[in-house]
This record gives sequence, structure tokens and C-alpha cells, in this order.
Amino acid sequence: MNKPRSLYIHIPFCEKICDYCDFTKLQYFRKFAIPYLETLKKELESYDIGELKTIYVGGGTPTALEDDLFEKLLEIIKPYTKGAIEYTFEANPESLSESKIKLLSRYGVNRISLGVQSTDNKVLKAINREHDYEDVKTAIKLLKQYGVDNINVDLILGLPHSSKSLLLKDLDNLTSLGIKHISCYALTIHPHTVLYNQGYKELEDDQMRELYDVVHNYLDKKGFVHYEVSNWAMPGYESHHNKTYWANEEYYGCGLGASGYIGDIRYKNTVNLEKYLLGEYIQEKETLTLKDKYTYEVMLKLRCEGLDLEYIKDTFNKDLSKEKKDEIKEMMEQGYLEYREEKLVATYEGKMILDQLILALL
Ligand code: SF4
Repeated sequence: MNKPRSLYIHIPFCEKICDYCDFTKLQYFRKFAIPYLETLKKELESYDIGELKTIYVGGGTPTALEDDLFEKLLEIIKPYTKGAIEYTFEANPESLSESKIKLLSRYGVNRISLGVQSTDNKVLKAINREHDYEDVKTAIKLLKQYGVDNINVDLILGLPHSSKSLLLKDLDNLTSLGIKHISCYALTIHPHTVLYNQGYKELEDDQMRELYDVVHNYLDKKGFVHYEVSNWAMPGYESHHNKTYWANEEYYGCGLGASGYIGDIRYKNTVNLEKYLLGEYIQEKETLTLKDKYTYEVMLKLRCEGLDLEYIKDTFNKDLSKEKKDEIKEMMEQGYLEYREEKLVATYEGKMILDQLILALL
């Protein structure tokens, strides 16, 4: 059996908790971070990890660790980095200091994903982010000085005070800083977050769609490719790691709350720090049947590269071109699906109504 070629590592610590956040995260305390890293090392060693193609360290905020612990983390990961073509760290602009960038570059990290969310200081303040736009500019300049130009920026659409004109300003700011990959996510208001308690509401679907159109039209003109529902990249700058997920390929997931997919099993790690530190890493396991695998295949591949109907026929014994002939024809006529290099691909319009396409094809 081939081993997974991708590894996700979760570092759950943050210096400050943002008002909208529903990720697995904890307030950073050194006394928790030290045993966490020791446990993470053991968890990594519990898998028989072979040569990897991609490594992604996310959070939380990996850069929240103090420099000595940050270096310890890089040392723990080092044995797995040989041969990796893409090694990404998530970072927040305010905690990506020059000393951390030096360490990242020394340990071969070649991609950074920056949690920017907005370049407007009023918006950033309203969601309790620690950084301002100056920090974003400084972090990007420093990264480039140290030779890292493969930088993703995350933006959130629909934040308090945001508007179409501020979104255009964000896009102007980021593209003029030479950013080659932008991820845009719709703000979701989760119960128990500060924004929820303040009564802040999500945008209506049609308002959100307008914002996505602003992003798409702007970035399309600048030469970016919309290669996944929420992701735009200049050619050659697509995220190899994230494409692993959307290609329905296997990956290891380590750390608090991380998910993984190995063989026939999809698993989710515990979000309970106490349990994790005791070595009770996995909380849920799903053993996949062929039908489950087919469902994941359609759900994930339509987000990005599209469906290879021959592969689906050989692997899942499903002839979609016959079984879903009418649905496919109708969705092609409506401009939601098209054939590209022998794959059935969702167009931009199709990606905007992806759940409907998936339901029609399952
Ligand atoms: S930095 Fe990220 S993970 Fe941490 S609280 Fe803010 S949004 Fe959540």
C-alpha cells in the first residue's frame, strides 16, 4: 500500500482570540506549549511516515510560539522534510518577526500563509485582530528579503464595516505587494463567538455572491486563476498541499483537532488538550466503504480539478456519463459544468452553487 505523501500539523496556540473564531485554538501559555511539542513529536513517531511531498503547519497560530519553542517545532518536523516540494507555515503578521523568518528559511519552509483577513485597520480592530496593515506590509517585505515569495493571504468576506469598496482596496493593496495566492472565505457566525453574542449577522447569500464576484472579476483581470471555490492563484502558485485534500488523496493529520485520511480510514483527533497530552490522540474514526469513497470523490474533486469519468467508472463502477446523462447535459447548458482536458469541471458559476451540483451528481 502506498503511504500518504502529505502531512498536516496543528499548533493550536494563539496570543489573542479573535471575535469570530471557531477553530481549535487555545490561549498561548509556555507551560502548555512545552508538553504539547513533546507529545506532537511522539504522535508523529507513532506513524510510519515515508517521503512526503507536502507539509502544512497550521493553527491556531504557529508563530505564537516563542523563538526557542518555534525552533524546537522546526527541529521536530525536520526528519520529515527531505524531498518535500512544498513546506508551508501559517503565520499572523504581528508575530512573524525577522528572527522567526530566519528560522523558517533555515529549515526550508518555502511557503507562508498569512492570516490578514482585511487590510483596513478599522475592520481589523472590530474583530479583535492584533495586527494592522503596517504589520502586513512589514511581514511581506521581510519574507521577500529572505527569499520567500510564495505567500498566501487569507481574506474574510462580510466582516463588520466591510464593503465592496474596502474589498477592492484590499485587493489593490495585496496585489501591489506582489501576493500570488489569495484565499477568500465567507464569514460564518458561530455560536459562542463574540460576534455572535454581539448579534452580528452573516451576509445574505446574494450579498456574499456579489463580494465573490468583485474578487473574481478583479483577480481574473490580474491573471489569477480561480482554481478552487475559495482560492485564486497566479499560474504555478496553487497550493500543492491543499490540492491533496481536493484530489481526495491521503494525508497524515497530527496535533490537537487535526484530521487525517490513511487507507480506508478518515480520522479526527481529540480537541481536548488533557487527553491529547496523555497520548489519546484520535477521537473519531470513519471506516470508508466504496460508496463513501465515491461520495468524497465527487464532493472534493468538483471543488477543484473536476471529475475524471473514466477513473470513476474503473474505480467505483459508476458510469456517470450514462447514469447522470440528463443532469450533466442540463448543467452544461446552464453554464455550471464543462469538459476540460477530459474532465468534468465546475465553472466559476458552478463553483458558486457547488452543493447543488454535488447533490445532482450523487
Ligand atoms: S488567530 Fe486564527 S486561530 Fe487564533 S483566534 Fe484568531 S482566527 Fe482563531
